[in-house]
Amino acid sequence: MKPSLRLDSHKLQYHPARVADFLEGRTVWPLYAEISPTSTCNHRCLFCNFNYLGHKNMQLPAGRMQKLARELKDSHVKAVVFAGAGEPSLHPDLFPAMRIVRELGMDAAMSTNGARLNNEQLMEMAHLLSWVRFSFNGGTPEAYGTCHGVAPENFHRALSSLRKLAECKAREHSRVTIGAQCVLLPENRKSIEALARLMKESGADYFSIKHFYPHEENSYQPDMSFLTESFLSDLRQLADEVSDARFTMVVRGVDSLDRKRPYKECHGLPFIIYIREDGMAYTCFSHQDDDKTAIGSILDDELPALWLKQAKDAALQYINRNMDKDLCQANCRHHQINLWLQQLKNPPMHVNFI
Ligand code: SF4
Repeated sequence: MKPSLRLDSHKLQYHPARVADFLEGRTVWPLYAEISPTSTCNHRCLFCNFNYLGHKNMQLPAGRMQKLARELKDSHVKAVVFAGAGEPSLHPDLFPAMRIVRELGMDAAMSTNGARLNNEQLMEMAHLLSWVRFSFNGGTPEAYGTCHGVAPENFHRALSSLRKLAECKAREHSRVTIGAQCVLLPENRKSIEALARLMKESGADYFSIKHFYPHEENSYQPDMSFLTESFLSDLRQLADEVSDARFTMVVRGVDSLDRKRPYKECHGLPFIIYIREDGMAYTCFSHQDDDKTAIGSILDDELPALWLKQAKDAALQYINRNMDKDLCQANCRHHQINLWLQQLKNPPMHVNFI
């Protein structure tokens, strides 16, 4: 049976020891870390969640990411994703840091637009990474160019990287999962079918259609009225048609577009850490514009020490006391984890009758 990707849910239940730390009130160390090596980006995607922060051309200082990789290990992190506000491959320390993450036994993954990757880097990605997700948001050069805010020719560059990575994967018998993700927008909706077929033919393992989650601070607020049940049903039909034993097309659920949450507390915060390109560390990704949500800076403290500081607990308390979760970004990174932890914290009657 083909293992499931589980893009619409979470995997915290596979870490019972860490969950027990949470339930029994011990220090919870993060399982998952996301690093934003740089805010510099060669693209200007319409839908980019980080547009409200501006792409200020900040990057982690030379050598800090390699040291951070060791600190993540000391902080009991198990998986590290290189992604964030800019294009991670534009930071010269990306590959040295990835190597250290792997040498220390953590899993590594990366999100990229793919347009600047060279052959050597693609080969290394095939060896080092558990997964790579290409942000690919148009099935024609024109739709791609509009959604990514670049000249249409960039479509071919990104496609060539994806194809070469698939070739490296086959040649080297690598286990890397190659994904392509498209945020569904008015500007690309007519090219989705072409894109799905192109991703399959180019060697991606999966192609995922993600829904657009507006961020209040961003100016791009598209008219999504085309997202009707009949449009979604056609997409699901396309997914059934193109998916096979090797390739999967996933249409993400629309339930997640609902911002109303059945919880008041964001219990998932301590399981995830986000390190920004300026060194600031956060647990919540979405409220970075409020300085009080930061837990501190890795330019001032090593990460394990930072995690044990009172300032980290104060930031988490601040988020939980001051952020109305019904106003948070729909389906934020923690949402599925929060739903599950909410059940654990509020058990039903008679739990021993399993
Ligand atoms: S956006 Fe809201 S629910 Fe999501 S992690 Fe931040 S505070 Fe928690």
